[in-house]
Order: sequence, then structure tokens, then C-alpha cells
Amino acid sequence: MDERISWEPCPTCGERAAVGWELFVCTACQSVNESPVEFDCPAGCQMDAAELPHAFLSG
Ligand SMILES: [Zn+2]
Repeated sequence: MDERISWEPCPTCGERAAVGWELFVCTACQSVNESPVEFDCPAGCQMDAAELPHAFLSG
């Protein structure tokens, strides 16, 4: 599993939160995409995994 961490503004409190991104290949178009799968805010904010793509993926 290939995964990276980036620091993104927390949608709840605005602090920098660690977001874990998992790489996956689209079976339909064979393009490589990233999807946020982990969220860790230093302020302790919680996010449902289902909300992560909406919060951190644009478009
Ligand atoms: Zn937060």
C-alpha cells in the first residue's frame, strides 16, 4: 500500500491537520488517483471517513 501524509487546514478548527492519502488506480480509466483515508487534527477534531473526500478533494 502506498500512502503519503500531507498537512491540510482542518475544516472544523482551521489548524493544520495530518491527512493520509492512499493511492489507487482507477480500473475504468487506468489513471492513478489519491484519496484521503486518514485524518488527524492536533486539536482532536474528528471526521468521518466518508466526509474526507468532500473536505479535501476539490472538484
Ligand atoms: Zn481541527
